[in-house]
Amino acid sequence: MARLSQADLVDLNHKFEQRTPQELLQWAKQTFGERVASISAMQKSGTVVCHMIKSSGAAIPTLFVDTGVMFQETLETRDRIINEYGLNVITLHPELTMEEQTEKEGILYLTSEGQEQCCHARKVEPLRKVGDQYDAFIGSLRRSDGGKRGVCPILSVDVETNTVRINPLAEFDDDHLEAYIKENDVIVNPLHSQGFTTIGCNRCTTPVLPSEPKRAGRWRHLGPWSVYCGINPTDRDPTHSPSIELPQELVDRILGRMTDYMI
Ligand code: SF4
Repeated sequence: MARLSQADLVDLNHKFEQRTPQELLQWAKQTFGERVASISAMQKSGTVVCHMIKSSGAAIPTLFVDTGVMFQETLETRDRIINEYGLNVITLHPELTMEEQTEKEGILYLTSEGQEQCCHARKVEPLRKVGDQYDAFIGSLRRSDGGKRGVCPILSVDVETNTVRINPLAEFDDDHLEAYIKENDVIVNPLHSQGFTTIGCNRCTTPVLPSEPKRAGRWRHLGPWSVYCGINPTDRDPTHSPSIELPQELVDRILGRMTDYMI
């Protein structure tokens, strides 16, 4: 096994800025084979990635974390992606239902500490549990979403799941996204036309005013809008370059180099 750190990816990230999302998806499939999946919350940018996967013909499964308190519109969007795009969407669930969790812990999402615990149990943990089946996950973060995502790299390491995170849409701004959706008639979660700029659990997501930041509708009851669920490694605050452990041969393939360790 070998360590792969965020610092190791600096040069590759720089080179990948010149690649299109479709080229990055192709690289992901070629590099990770059966051990790559996309993750999607069925928001607009996530269904764009689903469409790109469908168009590429790459057999990349999509993981959808159903926290048990998703909007009906989101579940219906997932079903449309399965039926109309023919993608292999795997739905992951937390260990406890929301009712069981509330009975055990109370209503967690009402406080900042509780929100972290709830998001970890209902979003991060289901993904962490399948982490050993994968070496890489494809996300759909975009820098134009601002906040911590304003500097999101294309490649990052996720210590929670010991995987590489690939965000092929990092450089896609709103105009690019809307143009792609229009041109390809992409399936879009209907909540977006009801004022939802981002979409999560029904307990913690509201529409936003045009004058508000895009993420103002997430955990609005907790105050500042810059709150994240922690499922995306680049939304966390590492104090040093995080690193993961992968087979040496895979690390060499990712970095496009040969390592010759004689001792
Ligand atoms: S978004 Fe809210 S309900 Fe959903 S997992 Fe996080 S805290 Fe819990």
